[in-house]
Amino acid sequence: MNALVIGAGMAGLSAAWHLQAAGITTTVLEARDRIGGRVWTNRDFADIPVEFGAELIHGRGAEVNTWDWIRKLGLRTWHWNKLDDSMIRTETGDWLTMGEARAQSPELDATRSWELGDVPEPCDDEDLGSYLQRIGFSPAQMRYVQRSFANAEGDDMRYLNAKAHAQAMPPPDASGGPRGVDDEDYSDHRILDGYDSYYTQLAAELDIHLHCAVSQINWAGGVQAQAVSGAVYAADVAVIALPLAVLQAARVRFAPLLPAVKNEALAGLQMGPVLKLVYLFDAPILDRKIGAIYSAGSPPMWWSPSLGRPGGAVVWTAFATGDYARELLQLGEAAALEKSLATLREEIGQPDLQARKSRWVAWNHDEFALGGYSVCLPGHYAARDKLAQPTPPLYWAGEASAPHRMAATVHGAYHTGKRAAQEIIREARA
Ligand SMILES: Cc1cc2nc3c(=O)[nH]c(=O)nc-3n(C[C@H](O)[C@H](O)[C@H](O)COP(=O)(O)OP(=O)(O)OC[C@H]3O[C@@H](n4cnc5c(N)ncnc54)[C@H](O)[C@@H]3O)c2cc1C
Repeated sequence: MNALVIGAGMAGLSAAWHLQAAGITTTVLEARDRIGGRVWTNRDFADIPVEFGAELIHGRGAEVNTWDWIRKLGLRTWHWNKLDDSMIRTETGDWLTMGEARAQSPELDATRSWELGDVPEPCDDEDLGSYLQRIGFSPAQMRYVQRSFANAEGDDMRYLNAKAHAQAMPPPDASGGPRGVDDEDYSDHRILDGYDSYYTQLAAELDIHLHCAVSQINWAGGVQAQAVSGAVYAADVAVIALPLAVLQAARVRFAPLLPAVKNEALAGLQMGPVLKLVYLFDAPILDRKIGAIYSAGSPPMWWSPSLGRPGGAVVWTAFATGDYARELLQLGEAAALEKSLATLREEIGQPDLQARKSRWVAWNHDEFALGGYSVCLPGHYAARDKLAQPTPPLYWAGEASAPHRMAATVHGAYHTGKRAAQEIIREARA
């Protein structure tokens, strides 16, 4: 048996790596001039690696497969504790460390620890905002969820299926132990060596064809993938590891048409708009131990990959999704960069702050991603499972097809690639 993998993001690379390790000859077809997809480490912007796509490793639990590679490759990581390394502008205008804010305001803290007490479960057809209102969240709490949790989840609360997205909240800890986003299982880490130190190693032994945008996949009797160049690649099976929005926009035609279950899946998911604005400053703009800012304005989230590194110049990145991103995207790059810098100036009280250089990374405008990452829409709890269902000889991978608790992450994408490979390996051995 031999296989094609369409897309060389984390899902495709993982699928190809696992197939190859099982002795299945595998060819990866990738549209871009690089691998990694929505994980994209830039090495030109500054003298440190700057992540233009995924930045953090979300969690330390056993399912977070990235750690296996971190250990194997001996990569260095930094832990974002979200207490004394982060500043927040509160609704009342105070400028506090996140630790101080959480200690002072149990109401605010509840939107981070998700210690909600005895509350009803969310329903499938309920959006996150409606659910939080139903269980008694105050308007201030709702606004805080929007700028922190929902911004990280990738879209406005009205688009987030409450039941699905609740799975990204830390669950109650029956043992009474520590909980919250700063717990080990929910903590965030940055790869100081750059995410590319991981994905280039994952890809090192793979047969990858770059500049190979696939436009049509025939899947009656084996698989033939036709590239825009006209080249045709044939194999017994294929892993489809394309971004959700690329599938939704029908950038790749399938013949025969895909079964109804795939259309149901695509109708139940949405690619949230995700925008990064990256700035290089000549000198540190805050105390060097501060690596993140939770702003009351837009963009609501800022962090610095320079934290914990020596040197003068520092990089700060703003992260906006949902309506924050939609509004900034409307402005265009120059005005969005200026407006966001104005927010930063105000938050840190430096009205004359100038950046040496800046740029945005607008994932909605990226023709091979067409958005940031997937969210599950109200009423469509089963959509991710439907997208994951094998339709031999096609097998499905990509972050949007991951279980809710790990969807929209790097480790979730990797998980789906491994899953698709295992489905094929089982078939080959049957
Ligand atoms: C700005 C941003 C920040 C993020 N931050 C984090 C984070 O901190 N932590 C985290 O865990 N996750 C984060 N994510 C999510 C994470 O990046 C994704 O979940 C993951 O990388 C998706 O991998 P994938 O393989 O499913 O898709 P992709 O990486 O998109 O891979 C799909 C591949 O298919 C290729 N392709 C597209 N069309 C064609 C075609 N016609 N023919 C051939 N190839 C094609 C694409 O070029 C791409 O390489 C972030 C995402 C973004 C955008």
